[in-house]
Amino acid sequence: MTFVITGGCCNDASCVPVCPVQCIRPRPGDPDFTSAEQLYIDPATCIDCGACMDECPVSAIHGEWDLPEELDDYLAINAEYFSNSPIEVSSPPDRKRRKLAEGSQLRVAIVGTGPAGCYAASDLSDIKGVEVSVFDRLPTPFGLVRAGVAPDHANTKQISKRFGAVLARSNVHCYLNVELGRDITIDELLQHHHAVIWAGGATSDRRLGIPGEELEGCVSAREFVAWYNGHPEHSDRRFDFSAGTAVVIGNGNVALDVARTMARPAEALRDTDIATHALEALKDSKVERVVVTARRGPEHAAYTSGELASLIHQTPGTQVSAKAAETQHLAKRSDRAAELVKTLPEADSLSRGIVLRFGLTPVEIRGDGSVEEVEFRNETGEVEVVSTSLVVKAIGYRGSSVIDLPFDESAGTLPQMSGRLVEPVSGDPLVGLNCSGWIKRGATGMIGTNKTDSGETVEALLHDFEVGRLTEPVAGQVELERLLGSRQVTVVDHAAWVNIDRAERAAGKSAGRPRIKLVTQAELLKAAGVSG
Ligand code: NAP
Repeated sequence: MTFVITGGCCNDASCVPVCPVQCIRPRPGDPDFTSAEQLYIDPATCIDCGACMDECPVSAIHGEWDLPEELDDYLAINAEYFSNSPIEVSSPPDRKRRKLAEGSQLRVAIVGTGPAGCYAASDLSDIKGVEVSVFDRLPTPFGLVRAGVAPDHANTKQISKRFGAVLARSNVHCYLNVELGRDITIDELLQHHHAVIWAGGATSDRRLGIPGEELEGCVSAREFVAWYNGHPEHSDRRFDFSAGTAVVIGNGNVALDVARTMARPAEALRDTDIATHALEALKDSKVERVVVTARRGPEHAAYTSGELASLIHQTPGTQVSAKAAETQHLAKRSDRAAELVKTLPEADSLSRGIVLRFGLTPVEIRGDGSVEEVEFRNETGEVEVVSTSLVVKAIGYRGSSVIDLPFDESAGTLPQMSGRLVEPVSGDPLVGLNCSGWIKRGATGMIGTNKTDSGETVEALLHDFEVGRLTEPVAGQVELERLLGSRQVTVVDHAAWVNIDRAERAAGKSAGRPRIKLVTQAELLKAAGVSG
């Protein structure tokens, strides 16, 4: 018997060190670790102990005997990974126990409480003598786990339990609803801490750069996702669901999330934590077909095969189709993604649900004030026009510049080496300034990818502390709180966040939903029990 990792894998590799026989691959440091769609368990080596299942933060590991029918494929998928490279039994890697020199005290400020910030806080607060202050401009923590992960991916959201436990630690101090630049500056953070880790994520969007992109009705997936997830800055948005067809440009995992959310019967989303305003709007939606367009062929698709499989096999009430003419060149390919696409029914003009289209490059979005149609050009230069009132650009997130920090405009990231910010021209490290997550490496990877990413940053920071490279702060936590108080900043601390969390869950319980999200700043601060 073996354990099996399934498509919900977050790639954070928490399972790897706990496996006594090291049968999980790839491991952090393996060449394919950062690009792997998921991790895999070697059935020939697994000793069936279940340690990995207990450790998995997103419930993506199942016993073979207990594998839900719709996940049956994953037994073969796990085994297949090892078919050409069987592994030798080895002992688990030493779990590095980091510690500070006896009597040392290290204070670190982390800006951003998404996965990158929470993994960094977790690593640092594990160490005796370290105090961590975490900041977020929203009154709620967890970044894209709360405002990005699709509402129907409940298992993925379970990671917030693990992050919540980190924020509750006595050496972690939460300053939510505090905005860097507005309420406090980077210099002031450095006066109160040895170092800062900027983990603010990618807060902007890639652009198509085609005419009509600014028309009303052409929106970024980032905004659309934030809207259906109840992000307070996007909860008053309105989208036009009046046309029968909606268009999604790009075919990454975000595109599939957006398409699925629009195409599923709204009733199927009632059991999720989708924002109530979005549930209501989707109930009234006239959209019957969501066309997901990729400029390249299916062999280059940006979605992971696990996400495509779960869309096809685990999304009842939503048909997925494709055009054979755009996928027939896959006939000889036998990889999983190709096999999945080849099984799809033929799409025609009457197809409902999600239609996957390939080889269509958007050239112009047209409309009189708002979107009416999109013109695409296919690989042979032919024009195809799709009528719609809603175009969602799911072509990737992009980092924005951060006040008082250097920025690499072309990459949309902070210039850095191993997580240390560097001066862009000289490449010299900027003392005490660090980063992790999407603002460090660009908008790629799963939630768990941030674990190794933040681990690297934390290693660099600890090294700098050990060799005396960091400047001793002139003030501590008491002074920090006095400073915020003197500016009348309404801080949401951990206890206040717990109040919000409980209020949302309680409201959800009475409505038979996991939680009902509070979606305005005023509601959130009221539930937090702090005056705004
Ligand atoms: P992504 O994976 O980078 O996909 C971007 C898509 O946009 C690609 O299809 C790309 O096509 C297309 N694109 C880019 N520029 C374009 C242009 N000018 N015109 C037309 N198409 C264009 O981005 P994402 O979907 O936002 O995802 C970001 C990261 O989050 C990914 O690593 C993803 O796996 C992860 N994520 C994971 C999950 C999950 O596990 N469930 C959910 C959401 C997000 P080309 O390939 O042709 O450039």
